[in-house]
Amino acid sequence: PTGPRVSPLFPALAAPDGRPALRFGERTIGYAELAATATALAARIDGARRIAVWATPSADTALGVVAALLAGVPAVPLNPKAGEGELAHVVGDSEPELVVAEPDAALPAALDGIERAEVPVVPETGGPAAPLPREPDPESPALIIYTSGTTGPPKGAILPRRALAANLDGLADAWQWTADDVVVHALPLFHVHGLVLGVLGPLRRGGSMRHLGRFDTGAVARELSDGGTVLFGVPTMYHRIAQALPGDTALASALSGARLLVSGSAPLPLPDHRRITEATGRHVVERYGMTETLMNTSVRVDGEPRPGSVGVPLPGVELRLVDDEGVVLDADDGETIGEIQVRGQHVFTGYLNRQDATEAAFSASWFRTGDMATRDADGCVRIVGRRATDLIKSGGYKIGAGEIENALLDHPAVAEAAVTGEPDEDLGERIVAWVVPADPAQPPAAEELRDHVAGQLAPHKRPRDVRFLDALPRNAMGKITKRALGR
Ligand code: ATP
Ligand code: MG
Repeated sequence: PTGPRVSPLFPALAAPDGRPALRFGERTIGYAELAATATALAARIDGARRIAVWATPSADTALGVVAALLAGVPAVPLNPKAGEGELAHVVGDSEPELVVAEPDAALPAALDGIERAEVPVVPETGGPAAPLPREPDPESPALIIYTSGTTGPPKGAILPRRALAANLDGLADAWQWTADDVVVHALPLFHVHGLVLGVLGPLRRGGSMRHLGRFDTGAVARELSDGGTVLFGVPTMYHRIAQALPGDTALASALSGARLLVSGSAPLPLPDHRRITEATGRHVVERYGMTETLMNTSVRVDGEPRPGSVGVPLPGVELRLVDDEGVVLDADDGETIGEIQVRGQHVFTGYLNRQDATEAAFSASWFRTGDMATRDADGCVRIVGRRATDLIKSGGYKIGAGEIENALLDHPAVAEAAVTGEPDEDLGERIVAWVVPADPAQPPAAEELRDHVAGQLAPHKRPRDVRFLDALPRNAMGKITKRALGR
């Protein structure tokens, strides 16, 4: 066959038309250009064992990834802002044969000796593209994405084609996501959120995406009032929106007019949910996922708004809660905490070069997420935190750091908060609150914050220590890295 090769991952590339697909700054790529260019690049990289993509938020990154998917060559998106050490780890681990990068990108030493492939300029009226090998097996690796490294060195999660297809279709069902949607975001393209949901999601639907380059609330307001229908963001972005909203009527009206506001990658604090809803009348929809599984749950747009919950399992996702002894909990009391385990087409095949970690991550066919949660009577899941860092065992109680963080954030003098446990002779662990004061010149009294938490929650959730910081340690996704707080 000749002509642009069509992958079942992207039906809209089968009959490319003049509609816009992706926009990065001034550069808009229509479906016809996308099909022609990605097909030409796919021919160039065809046969490579694995490629890296220097994942700046650019058209070339998106074209590189789509081309790799068309060619059936696994692609590894690289974080261009990662330190030399992390890049050396990822490149050494994944051993790409080629790197796709923008022509003017200065690549670091970690990529020395790896051949560079640039995105070709293809005239839209060009002749038929070269025929390519047949559609890859649905089980074959499509992307290798490194985890965020919140709890340890990043691990390369091998995501097969069927996981991408199944998960994006599950999200489309939960979000009523269609070809008419224009997704607006400013997420990095080297993680699942920005790349799989933010770029491949719109392409699978045949809709479009506009990337803001850098997050700023003015750009969000502009794009949502100029045709954007859906906003994807991480909690740090919604926090900035919540802070800007009271005085920013353009932002409030843009958000009010959007079809869907989605948050994920980390918990969205309740005070931010509340402020956004108060100012816009809209509820932010939270979804929960991870590199290894793509998305597991989401609040559904055809259901009740559920601030503080990550919603219900997506279609095709089997989810269970399991206690410390491995016993499956059937509790739906909103109280009993268990580890989330999932199963389904959306789950990865394993970690690259990490047979040990892969084996440890599965319990028979179930993937152990390491995230702890409760479940309500209507099946809605509430994340309590990660088993490794957010579950505090104090005085015989199991306490989730998240609810204490929410209570602290509810105090007007608190800008940011993180809660950890530290070894304690009497209690097993003692609760420690790390607080960034709203006004650094006038931090609140520790005793007042301790009482505030105890009053809102329960006496045994009172932090023992309160420690003030200028900022919380965060990674590239804006996630709080509790390792840096001694956890
Ligand atoms: P590493 O696995 O390298 O330590 P990481 O787990 O942060 O890093 P990701 O795969 O990017 O890497 O993140 C997945 C994790 O993010 C989940 O396991 C969960 O802890 C957290 N998460 C994602 N979405 C949400 C959400 N809506 N609410 C709470 N936590 C979330
Ligand atoms: Mg993880």
